[in-house]
Amino acid sequence: MKGSQKVDVVVIGAGPGGYAAAFYAADKGRKVVLIEQEKRLGGVCLNRGCIPSKAYLHATKMIHEAELSSARGIEFAKPVLKIDKLRAWKESILEKLGGGIQQLAKARGVEVVIGRGVFEDSKILRVETPDGQKFLQFDKAIVATGSKPALPKAFDLGNKRIMTSTEALELEEVPQELLVVGGGYIGMELGTVYASLGSKITLVEAMGSILAGADADLARPVVKYAEKNFKEVRLGAKVSKMSTSGKQIKVHMDFGGKSVDELYDRVLVSVGRTPNCSDIGLQHTKVQRDEKGFIKVDAQQRTSDPNIFAIGDVVGGLMLAHKAAREARVAVDVILGGENQFKDVIVPAVVFTEPEIAWCGVTENEARDKGLAVKVAKFPWGASGRALATDKEGLTKLVVDAESERILGVGIVGAGAGEMIGEGALAIEMGATAFDLANTVHPHPTYGETLMECAEAFYGHATHVYSRKAPAPAPQNA
Ligand code: FAD
Repeated sequence: MKGSQKVDVVVIGAGPGGYAAAFYAADKGRKVVLIEQEKRLGGVCLNRGCIPSKAYLHATKMIHEAELSSARGIEFAKPVLKIDKLRAWKESILEKLGGGIQQLAKARGVEVVIGRGVFEDSKILRVETPDGQKFLQFDKAIVATGSKPALPKAFDLGNKRIMTSTEALELEEVPQELLVVGGGYIGMELGTVYASLGSKITLVEAMGSILAGADADLARPVVKYAEKNFKEVRLGAKVSKMSTSGKQIKVHMDFGGKSVDELYDRVLVSVGRTPNCSDIGLQHTKVQRDEKGFIKVDAQQRTSDPNIFAIGDVVGGLMLAHKAAREARVAVDVILGGENQFKDVIVPAVVFTEPEIAWCGVTENEARDKGLAVKVAKFPWGASGRALATDKEGLTKLVVDAESERILGVGIVGAGAGEMIGEGALAIEMGATAFDLANTVHPHPTYGETLMECAEAFYGHATHVYSRKAPAPAPQNA
């Protein structure tokens, strides 16, 4: 097209998938343009997701720790909440990180265009910028436009007291009575933040358990925390209607065999996310979407259009930043003619609740559902000196192939679970056996040691857990 700029790779969306793809393609010598409709790069993860939620979780955890401290003989006065300052502190972190991404783009020669990208066809992207339209003629495009919170029509009243995670992270006020609809990781994390700040949380979940992806024994300490620190946790409860009632929200729900109408100061709806790809001109390309609207891709992140790849939340699956970043590598490698694919990749999941839960590989539930021949080893943190010295409870477990003794899955609930799960992912990726893990010296006293002792427990001889079971024969040390 006349007047259009030619580029090797155009990436649409500068979230953890998009900027990772753009940087990697530039590192590999390609001329790359990165399109982002928002002023600050970083996507949902940086602006309305991973980072602000973890900043608030960190800040509010201090309140909980200070309360626990009185049992240790150290007492603090009741905290004074300065909400504007807390919000400004969070914002300063986002500014720093967003600026960092911008600088990294510049250093790599990635051209960043602030504007909205829309496909004209399979070769041309139109970018609507504040200064007018720009046309890019690309060799390959990577769609990384992410996702947004789902807000069912029945709840979408245009009332700001009905929040999604986006508004909840703005932390406009601390409502007295807050209803959280959805017991997935976002509802649980943000519920934990608001509970620490003083809101009375009623959490409702339509299914029979919270954090459905996690094994029940891992979720148990989080359920216990929520039952103690939230006003109420209602399982099998279904919210069907909301309406405005003065300065409150009237909510109709069914649970425990009855129907109730209740008033809340605010409601947080965290019931899933929908892809951002209905208005980016995909109808002018050969790209296809599935029945839920996500872009269909193969294991090499190829869409049905040979010139267009897609990565991250917009293709569905596990909607996590590190999964998006890995898909970015796959897409770029394939564009460069490499053989990479997103297959059998171990993607750890972490829920940053109190305590944290993390797992990777095969869960015990999955192993049972698929009829896999596995053995499960568990190490309760009551036997960990580090956990006792820091008042932490937790559990570490391994799902081990019964025959080869290869580690297939790792699950941890407890302080720092998210920091430790990378070791589990490495063990699975490297094909490590329980014996390898049991024979890897871990420093004492650490939470990480529980991984080693859990592997020892698999053989029936964990130092800090007595087992009456006859120990399984372990391979001899070479
Ligand atoms: P996104 O981060 O959604 O980025 C897409 C970008 O594309 C956006 O910046 C958007 O503005 C831009 N865009 C969209 N359309 C266009 C267009 N037409 N033109 C130009 N730009 C466009 N994940 C974790 O791994 N760990 C966590 O702890 C975690 N916590 C979370 C907490 C919350 C509250 C939420 C909501 C999410 C959390 N996530 C977490 C999920 C994580 O944020 C997403 O999985 C991740 O951001 C997806 O990355 P992405 O690159 O696919 O898309």
